[in-house]
Amino acid sequence: LPSKLPNAGTTIFTVMSALAAEHGAVNLGQGFPDFGADPALLQAVTDAMAAGHNQYPPMTGVPALRQAVAAKLNALYGSAYDADRDITITAGGTQALFTALQCCVGTGDEVIIIEPAYDSYDPAIRLAGAVPVGVPMTADYRLDWTAVRAAVTPRTRALVLNTPHNPSGRVATEDDLRELERIAEQHDLFVISDEVYEHMVFDGERHQSVARHPGLAARSFLVGSFGKTFHVTGWKVGYVAAPAALSAAFRRLHQYTVFTVHTPTQHALAAYLAHPAPWQGLGDFYQAKRDGFRAALAGTKLRLLPCDGTYFQTVDYGAISDLPELDFAKWLTTEIGVAAIPLSVFYQRPQERRHVRFCFAKRDDTLAEAARRLRRGL
Ligand code: PMP
Ligand code: GLN
Repeated sequence: LPSKLPNAGTTIFTVMSALAAEHGAVNLGQGFPDFGADPALLQAVTDAMAAGHNQYPPMTGVPALRQAVAAKLNALYGSAYDADRDITITAGGTQALFTALQCCVGTGDEVIIIEPAYDSYDPAIRLAGAVPVGVPMTADYRLDWTAVRAAVTPRTRALVLNTPHNPSGRVATEDDLRELERIAEQHDLFVISDEVYEHMVFDGERHQSVARHPGLAARSFLVGSFGKTFHVTGWKVGYVAAPAALSAAFRRLHQYTVFTVHTPTQHALAAYLAHPAPWQGLGDFYQAKRDGFRAALAGTKLRLLPCDGTYFQTVDYGAISDLPELDFAKWLTTEIGVAAIPLSVFYQRPQERRHVRFCFAKRDDTLAEAARRLRRGL
């Protein structure tokens, strides 16, 4: 059939996970934990099913979960989301991003994405008939507002922000959000704010949500995902928080895309979120993993780039090899036995850099084995 995404291949996550499995490599490619979730959360799913929560929930999501999400966002970020009007439960962050983009951009519109950009933004924008405009970050993966301003045209309709940022592991600052607010207001842009790593911020920094900035929140679709926060990426339950008019537009499409999502997990998440701040400690947990992994790689020729958030560590392998990033990631997987993700897949145009990303959401013994292989091989 003629494809609406003629240039799309197979996503890098599928490619690298398959290659890792084929070669028995330690899979630090695709971002998912190799450890279990809190047994209390798992039990809550069983309890929800036993209690009969197995039919369609309301189109917008289980009310108790929407209330828990609104309460969390408002407590953490000082926002004023209304559970009934402004929160919609989605099939993971991916569907939230997709539907948000479909409802705010259309044919001929331009959407600014910050490169390296998570790989689902570009196809979602193209499927909406719009044009993704890639704006590079600075050399050390900071947001480059001069470049963003230069990319704005009369056709620019929206910008996709991602903080903490996949793949670089950097986090936006308060000044970044203020600058974004100025640009968005000046050019009347929608903001799609991908905050799925909101609870993974290190070294005492705090997450800069669009929800902290009323001017931004008023024009933003804030996207979150429970998969990241509670170590259940396969549940595919997330949410979008947006003011009434934006949420109404979102729900108009959502009702005919998935209608609603899996009931028992929504009840379980609502019950779990009733515990005091169950995300607390997640930042420290991943910071310890980051520190252990970085220390274990110190004996290699990999240059470790800064990592302020997410569960990704990006490295520069220029001192080891001149292979392009995809070739190096494949070589690392098949010859050294550790899978990684090449950053080149997160750009529209070829890059000169020599950077790959490792996921450290892994058991300590998994990370130790990966580091042992890297130390031995590099
Ligand atoms: N945004 C980013 C930046 C991600 O890394 C991911 C997946 N890890 C998603 C969105 C999608 O989240 P979900 O798995 O909940 O669809
Ligand atoms: N978001 C995850 C990552 O960046 C993977 C998600 C997926 O497999 N599509 O690794």
